[in-house]
Amino acid sequence: MVFFMKECIKCGYQSEQNKEKFQEILCDICYAFAPSSEGLFKQYIQDKTNWKLLETFRKHSELRGETQKKGMIKKATDGNLMSRAPFGYNIENKKLIPAGNSKEVEDIFEEFLNSGISLTQLSKKHGLSVNGLKKILTNFTYLGKIKFNNQTHEGTHKPLVSSILFNHVQDKLEKLGIKIV
Ligand SMILES: [Zn+2]
Repeated sequence: MVFFMKECIKCGYQSEQNKEKFQEILCDICYAFAPSSEGLFKQYIQDKTNWKLLETFRKHSELRGETQKKGMIKKATDGNLMSRAPFGYNIENKKLIPAGNSKEVEDIFEEFLNSGISLTQLSKKHGLSVNGLKKILTNFTYLGKIKFNNQTHEGTHKPLVSSILFNHVQDKLEKLGIKIV
């Protein structure tokens, strides 16, 4: 197995996280300061620097990135990043609260799983579009989770379906070959 470490053209820093700009490899720090015009960029990379001199900035920027990320995750788990409440919830004081129709969510999951009703029929029955119904059946929010940055995190809101029911529904969707767009 060959490990290829990408080396920053400006400072020589080696990292797999290095990025590409105008077909040149740059570390995160050099990338952040790179000019957007190609002409200036060429001059910029000619002006070499030593990655060791940049270590203090690199450490600081990693820390800053982590802190920002934690803040975003906290916001997401508190429901602050949600613009619109999913079916069955309301947003009150930036928190997800089960709405009057919250029981309907569980009904939808159970009906889909246990009755032979088609997605089209089920969506009509609950006044939803087929796509809206599919989104409900695959929405992690109903498990009390929050999806953020393609990762799921534990939320602070009340789940509306059990994980057993949710997982059975996912299995059935998969078996039926239903794609979620
Ligand atoms: Zn660099």
